[in-house]
Amino acid sequence: MQDERRPVLSVEEALERILATVRVLEPERVPILEALGRVLAEEVVADRNIPPLPNSAMDGYAVRAADVARVPARLRVIAEAPAGRLCPVEVGPGSAVRIMTGAPIPAGADAVVPFEHTRVVQDSSCPTADEWIEVLRETRPGANVREAGEDVRAGQVVLTPGRVLRPQEIGMLAALGRTEVAVVRRPRVAILATGDEVVPPWETPGPGQIRDANSYTVAAQVRRYGGIPLILGVARDEETLIREGVRRALAERADLIVTSGGVSIGDFDLVKQVLAAEGEMRFWSLNMKPGRPLAFGVVGGVPLVGLPGNPVSAMIATELFVRPAVLKMQGFTEWPWPELRARLTDPIVRKDGRRHYLRVRLRETPDGWEATLTGDQGSGILSSLVQADGLAVIPEDVDHLPAGAEVRVLRI
Ligand code: AMP
Ligand code: MG
Repeated sequence: MQDERRPVLSVEEALERILATVRVLEPERVPILEALGRVLAEEVVADRNIPPLPNSAMDGYAVRAADVARVPARLRVIAEAPAGRLCPVEVGPGSAVRIMTGAPIPAGADAVVPFEHTRVVQDSSCPTADEWIEVLRETRPGANVREAGEDVRAGQVVLTPGRVLRPQEIGMLAALGRTEVAVVRRPRVAILATGDEVVPPWETPGPGQIRDANSYTVAAQVRRYGGIPLILGVARDEETLIREGVRRALAERADLIVTSGGVSIGDFDLVKQVLAAEGEMRFWSLNMKPGRPLAFGVVGGVPLVGLPGNPVSAMIATELFVRPAVLKMQGFTEWPWPELRARLTDPIVRKDGRRHYLRVRLRETPDGWEATLTGDQGSGILSSLVQADGLAVIPEDVDHLPAGAEVRVLRI
C-alpha cells in the first residue's frame, strides 16, 4: 500500500537526514585497553624520550668506533652492561663492554659490534682474569646504536583526536605511561518493540502471538557497532503505552531511541501519533525493499528511528540507518561496508523501481565470488537472513539481471 502523504526518499537521502541530526558524543576517560577500536578525544603528547637514552640494538660489545676502524682489532672486555641499568664504566681506548640489547650505551662508546662479528681470544701462554675479544668487521660510529628519542621525542604530539585506536596505538599509549585515555563515549541506544501480538522471548506465545525477535537483533547490531543497547521490552499498540516507553528511554538517558513496528499504515501510524505530541516526527516511504516505511524524528532532544516491524526489514534498516548513526555518535567519520562483488547464480526479475537488498549466500570459486539467493525473500522470513552472509544490492534502475551478472554484495 503506497501512502501518498509520505515523501518517497532514497536510502542515501534518508541517511543524510538522519546523520544531519546526530551529534558526536562527549569524551570519557577509560583504561587504555577499553579504548581499543574507539575514537581518541584528546591530543597525546610524549612526556619523555623513547628510548630515554642511547642504547644497544644488538647483543654484542660496546666499543669506540675509532678502535675498530681497522680490523681485526683486539679489545679488552672491562664490564658487562645488562638492559635496564646504567653501567657506570667508561669505555677507554682499547676496551669494550659486553652489552645486551636495550642496555644504555656506556660513556665513551659510540658503536656496538654484534657478537657474530667478534671472537673471543684465548691466550694460553699468559692467562688473565679479563676476557679479550677480536673485532672482525669494521664498525662505523653509531652502528647498532639507537639514539635517545629516535622513536618518540619528549613533547612530540604522538596521537591526535579522531584517531581510531588499534592495538599499536594502545601499545604506544602504554609506552607513553598512559593508563587511561579520553575517547568518545559510546551511545546508549534504547530499543522498544511495539505490537499487541509481540511477547518477550521468555513467554509462551498465546494464539496469534509471536516472540520479540527485533529487540534482540537490533541490540546485537548496536553492540556490534559499539553502542550500549538498553532493551525496554514490548509496548502494546496503545498510544499511552508507547508514549510511556519513549519516556522511559529518555529517563534512561538514551542517546538514540529505536522502535520497531507500528509504522505501517495498518498500524494507524501509532508511533507517529504518540510522538507527534512529544517531539518532531517525520515519516518516510523509502524507495527500497525490504523496509519501505521508516519513521524518524527527535523526541526530548533525542533522535528516534522507527523501524518497520518485519524482522528482515528491521535488521536491514538498522544496518543502513542505525549503524552509521551509532558510529557517527562515537566520533567515526566513515563507516564503509565490508563489501565485495559477486556473480549471481540465479536470474533476477523485478520491475518496481526500488532498490532491493537480496539475501544471498556467498561462495568463493576459482573465478571469484558467487551469490545464491537464500530462498523466500519475504520480509518476515528471518531464517532467510540466518542462512545469508550477504545482501546483494540491486539498483533502482535495474529490472532484470541474467544469471552470471555481477552485483555488489554487502557482507552481513
Ligand atoms: P508492523 O510493522 O508493526 O506492522 O509489523 C510487521 C510484521 O512484523 C508483523 O507481522 C509483526 O507481527 C512483525 N513484528 C513486529 N514486531 C516484531 C518483533 N519485535 N519481533 C518479531 N516480529 C515482529
Ligand atoms: Mg505492529
